[in-house]
Amino acid sequence: MTTRTTGEPQRVFDLSGGRLCLDFANTVAGMRGTSPREHLGSYADLVEFALEAGAAGEAQARRLRAEARRRPREAEATFAEAIALREALYRTFVARARGEEPGRADLDHLSGATSRALAHRRLVRDGDGYALGWDDSPAALDAPLWPIAESAAALLTSRDELERVRVCGMFDEAECSWLFVDQTRARTRRWCSMKDCGNRAKARRHHARAREAGPG
Ligand SMILES: [Zn+2]
Repeated sequence: MTTRTTGEPQRVFDLSGGRLCLDFANTVAGMRGTSPREHLGSYADLVEFALEAGAAGEAQARRLRAEARRRPREAEATFAEAIALREALYRTFVARARGEEPGRADLDHLSGATSRALAHRRLVRDGDGYALGWDDSPAALDAPLWPIAESAAALLTSRDELERVRVCGMFDEAECSWLFVDQTRARTRRWCSMKDCGNRAKARRHHARAREAGPG
């Protein structure tokens, strides 16, 4: 549950993936399949994620929460749709990161989500010019999914960036399945975060060396 205080906003979600779609995939911490820690438990959490990730504004988030209270069953269905989208994009990008071919069904899922998202693109007034915005109908409970689907499509179709998508080095230890875009010039980023998995790996290497060096 989220507690928002005035002043310093308290963040619930980690946004170290470098792209909205990867941050969304990373709303499961730990290792999928063996030790997952789910951070998205409800439609309200989905709205909170969108807000923190900058995919929705405060006013839109308020409208979505109110709309979800009015239509709880539809909100629940949208939440299930969000989880299905998240897992399809997770499987797709983790496959690419590991040099494997993503599944056809997952690509079809992303393709469908992309076309639904793009159908909500609108030309909006922006200062004295125009910008690409989104249909702002308050009835659209799935609005938080549109920019996520678009972000996944942009990443998938961007050759250079797609080659930089990595899964955390702790994936091989079955401890972390977080994805990120490696922005380092030398393409050497190995960990979702140096604070967490990076330090854990370093400590382990240190202990292994100490054992080898120690008396039998
Ligand atoms: Zn990690």
